[in-house]
Amino acid sequence: MRHLIRDLFEKEGYVFATRAMDIAKKAGFENPARLASNENPMGPSKKAVLSAELSLNDSNRYPDETAKSLVNALKEYHGDYHIVTGVGMDGVIENVIRTFIDCKDKVCVSTPTFSFYNLAVSAQGGEVVNVRRNEDFSVDCDEFIKGCSGAKLAFLCTPNNPTGTVTPVSDIEYILNSIDCMLFLDNAYVDFCDTDYRDLVKKYDNLIIGRTMSKAFGLAGMRVGYAFVPLWYEPYYLRAQTPFALNSVSIAAAIGAISDDEYVSDYLLHVKEWRNRFETESGYRVCPSGANFVMMDVAPLKGDAAVSELAKKGVIVRSCASFPTLGDSYIRVSIGESWENELFLKAIKEI
Ligand SMILES: *Cc1c(COP(=O)(O)O)cnc(C)c1O
Repeated sequence: MRHLIRDLFEKEGYVFATRAMDIAKKAGFENPARLASNENPMGPSKKAVLSAELSLNDSNRYPDETAKSLVNALKEYHGDYHIVTGVGMDGVIENVIRTFIDCKDKVCVSTPTFSFYNLAVSAQGGEVVNVRRNEDFSVDCDEFIKGCSGAKLAFLCTPNNPTGTVTPVSDIEYILNSIDCMLFLDNAYVDFCDTDYRDLVKKYDNLIIGRTMSKAFGLAGMRVGYAFVPLWYEPYYLRAQTPFALNSVSIAAAIGAISDDEYVSDYLLHVKEWRNRFETESGYRVCPSGANFVMMDVAPLKGDAAVSELAKKGVIVRSCASFPTLGDSYIRVSIGESWENELFLKAIKEI
C-alpha cells in the first residue's frame, strides 16, 4: 500500500536534533547541554504548573471550543486585539495556510528561515517562492515585494530563525503597503528583542502576527500558539480550525504562564547577558541576534562537523546546513542555563 503515499512524504520532513543527542550519549553524557531547540531552560513557571494541575480535574469535559478563557487572558496581557489560538504557532501556521491556499496557489517566503512554512504549504498543495535575504540577512524588501506578486500569502520571520535578525517596523510597513496579499509575520522570538510590531495589526488588514508560548513563556511541551489577526479574518480562521484544537490542560497552563511576569523578566535578563557573552567570547563571527539563540559562522569548519565535535564534548547545538541557501558553515546555539552556556564556550574553543 506504500505506493498510495503522496510523493511529498517520500523525502525527509522536519529536521530534529536527535543525531547529536545520540553522539553525546555514546560519549557518556547522559545529561548533555541542550542548546539546539531554543527552549526556555528554566523549567516551566510554577503558576503554569499549578494551573495545569487544577485543570486536570475537569478533563472529562471537552475544552471550551475557541479557548475563550485563554483569549481573554491574552487580551488582558496585550490589550484589545483580535486573537485566535492554535496547537503551537505551528498549528496556527497550518490553519492560516488552510484558509488561503488551494492546490498550486503561490506563497512567498523570506529565506533562509524556519523550515516549517515550506513543509506546511507543500502539504496543502501550495507552491513556495523563496526570496533570499541580503548578505547580512536583512530582508531585501523590494525583492520580497516582487516575490509576493501573484501570491496569496507571504511569510516573514522577525527576529528570524535561524539568523536572529530583527527587521525594522518601517521595513514591514513598506512591505505591507506594497503587496497585494496576506503577510504572516512570525514573532516567535519577539519577547527577546526591543521591537514591537503589534500595533501594525490595527492599521493593516492584510497582516497576521504569530506568537507562541513555547519560547519566552517556557511551555514548549504544552503546544500553545496564537495570533493577532484583523477582525474580518477571525471567523474564517475559526471555521477552518480542527474542533477543540487546544486541550484544556494547555489552555490552563498558558493562562498561568502569562500571569507570571517575574518568570519571564528573569529569563529575558539571563538571555540578554549570555547573548552578549556568546557574541564576544566564542571566537567566531556571530550574527547580531534579537532572539534567545545566536547563529555563528564556524568556517573553516562545517556546521555538521562542528555539531558532532561539540556533541562529543556534551553540548548539543543545531547545524544550519539543512536551511536552504545558507551555506554549510553555520551553527545555531540556544541560550541555555549558565552551566550549559559555560560548557559551550569551553567546548567551542577546543574544537
Ligand atoms: C519555535 C518556532 C515556532 C513554533 O513554535 P510552536 O512551538 O509551534 O508554538 C514558530 N516559528 C518559529 C520561527 C519558531 O522558531
